[in-house]
Amino acid sequence: MNEYDSARIADLLTHHGLEEAGSVEDADLIILNTCAVREKAEVKLYHQLGRWKGLKKNNPAKIFAVGGCVASETGKQIRARAPIVDIIFGPQTYHRLPEMIQRLEAGQGPQIDVSFPQVEKFDYLPKNSASTASAYVTIMEGCSNFCTYCIVPYTRGKESSRKVDDILYEIYQLVQNGVKEIHLLGQNVNSFQGLNHDGSICSFAELLYLVNEIDGIERIRFTTSNPIKFTQDIINAYRDLPKIVNSLHLPAQSGSDRILKLMGRPYTSDDYRDIIRRLRMVRPDISISSDFIVGFPSETREDFEETMRLIDDVRYDGSFSFIYSKRPGTPAAQIEDPITLEEKKERLSILQQKIDSLALQYSREMMGTVQRVVIDGKAQYGNLLCGRTENNRNVNFEGPDSLIGTLADVEITEVMPHSLKGKLVVNK
Ligand code: SAH
Ligand code: SF4
Repeated sequence: MNEYDSARIADLLTHHGLEEAGSVEDADLIILNTCAVREKAEVKLYHQLGRWKGLKKNNPAKIFAVGGCVASETGKQIRARAPIVDIIFGPQTYHRLPEMIQRLEAGQGPQIDVSFPQVEKFDYLPKNSASTASAYVTIMEGCSNFCTYCIVPYTRGKESSRKVDDILYEIYQLVQNGVKEIHLLGQNVNSFQGLNHDGSICSFAELLYLVNEIDGIERIRFTTSNPIKFTQDIINAYRDLPKIVNSLHLPAQSGSDRILKLMGRPYTSDDYRDIIRRLRMVRPDISISSDFIVGFPSETREDFEETMRLIDDVRYDGSFSFIYSKRPGTPAAQIEDPITLEEKKERLSILQQKIDSLALQYSREMMGTVQRVVIDGKAQYGNLLCGRTENNRNVNFEGPDSLIGTLADVEITEVMPHSLKGKLVVNK
């Protein structure tokens, strides 16, 4: 989501006549877009600002802006720790950046706006300029779930869905730019409730059918969906719409019902298994990935074993898994936590090794198969192209640069731990 926001900020500033600088030294304006989900990202922000102190000293006219969730969480306090910062804006106020820059340059002092205005930020943004093979489109913002560990509802505000016509129009424009794969974004995309132009409400499943209708779109992805409200109509969409990729990121967070309850996640591990069972009835070989929080306050070894059991049952193909990070002001920060960091690190490593070995098995099963890949660009090494499979694996293969930005069929010829090699078979 931050990647999408950063790209839209760049679109906005380009629209207002700014150009991308070659380096931070050359830049007149430097923006840091931040994440507050875990403490580490916050720490990194202040380290980075510390490193840039000298730049401000050499050129006091250089403008430093901090946006995103840390800005939203801490607001003007950022200036107390890092006085070089001139502008502080939140995830819902980045459309106001041009005015804030103008006011700063007019001598009106530091600009801080981390409010959650009731206006549609999207109404103030210019056309989405993405012209890569794959592009993000935000369909909803914020979150009203208040999982006990999570800071997002406080920093991004309450859940609100964009209007259906606005989303479809943005996608239509992206298709004109040559985009082939649309990645729908939101904190809980399956809670989407967008207004149709006739005033009725469009569900997430209904939106999938509408996006599927757009000519030129070959693939649909979405992140993040949530086991809450992952309703049968979404599973039916997987059955009916081949453009939806054969992979799903569905964060479980934990396999222990006791921990799920403490996390404020209103489902059990069996509810989760049931979603996957019904999904696999319509897509038997779908690849499933998840987010896991390891070492949630009071998590016992037995709770952790429940998570490992869930991993065995679902046979995940990937995960974003991290040690619990205490976020100020969240209810979980009050729960007593006797587990040592050493123990948490050990659990995380057991979990990650297990999921890595499952993913490697899936990769090996892909050997010799033909995969349709979205070609994002060149591979890092060897003058090869790099394509992405439906189940999110990078495949490097020989081919002409003219294929960049398109989809092609590639036969998998070699499996490595973190990527695949292939041979181009069909060029459509
Ligand atoms: N809305 C999505 C997740 C958004 S936050 C969902 O509910 O599934 C992305 C991920 O960050 C979460 O899935 C969670 O695994 C992780 N996360 C959030 N708060 C965290 C915390 N305090 N400590 C560690 N990980 C956290
Ligand atoms: Fe955070 Fe829970 Fe909302 Fe996801 S659903 S963003 S984890 S509060």
